[in-house]
Amino acid sequence: MSLSLDADAAVRAVAAGEPLLAAGDLAFDEDEVADELRSVAQNLSETAVEGTPAQLTATLLARTGIDVAALALPALQNDVAAIARAAAALGVDATTLGELVQLALQPVLWEAAAQAAALTELDKWERGYCLCCGAWPGIAELIGTERRRVLRCVRCGSGWSWLVLLCPYCGTDDHRDLGILELGADETGSVETRGHRIDVCTRCHGYVKAVQTFTSNSAVRLVAEDVATLYLDAAATQAGYRRPGDVDAKTAGIPRLAREGRSD
Ligand SMILES: [Zn+2]
Ligand SMILES: [Zn+2]
Repeated sequence: MSLSLDADAAVRAVAAGEPLLAAGDLAFDEDEVADELRSVAQNLSETAVEGTPAQLTATLLARTGIDVAALALPALQNDVAAIARAAAALGVDATTLGELVQLALQPVLWEAAAQAAALTELDKWERGYCLCCGAWPGIAELIGTERRRVLRCVRCGSGWSWLVLLCPYCGTDDHRDLGILELGADETGSVETRGHRIDVCTRCHGYVKAVQTFTSNSAVRLVAEDVATLYLDAAATQAGYRRPGDVDAKTAGIPRLAREGRSD
């Protein structure tokens, strides 16, 4: 796997708010990803409920070789139409196909994220979406006793510092729009003991769940944290919040100060 991008191009991309995977070229071993896809599909075919679309799709993908390279980009860019066309051609469920391809690509993305982190100073990144792969943050870490907030991309593992009073989706820094979701009585106990919380924005109805930690989680550990905090996603959704919220594509993820202070 390699991300072809030099340090100067990476610095320019970070300044322009362009995710590094989009700025550079990601080359990977197609056979390795195809093997990985068969392995995650096999896993799902054994654990999913017999006869469901997910299970039937997984069983077929575990046995059949498909052109993963053609699906890699659509899966990473969440190109729903392209995935749906491929799924129809294969006679499988589109959602499951997209999810399995993303899972199969995760080791490639973890490597790309490590490479991206070595290229440039990630804390110069001023957008709410992932500086490496462009996905919205899945979780925020509140690190150490000072609780420095770091947004983490669950897909590739990248992380970047972010102000508490700044919505990563619509970019508002108006404290009247931002708050912490009050949880019901049965959730409150677990939230307090585990150091979890949900930051919400009433302007775009977006939420980011957060976990307290002393050191930043590894990419693999982060996936486990995401799963362990699914009850927070359920609570946020039930309260009417979404990830990423109602974002305007033109200004998505751009903090207000960056929008007003710069012409680029
Ligand atoms: Zn990412
Ligand atoms: Zn917002």
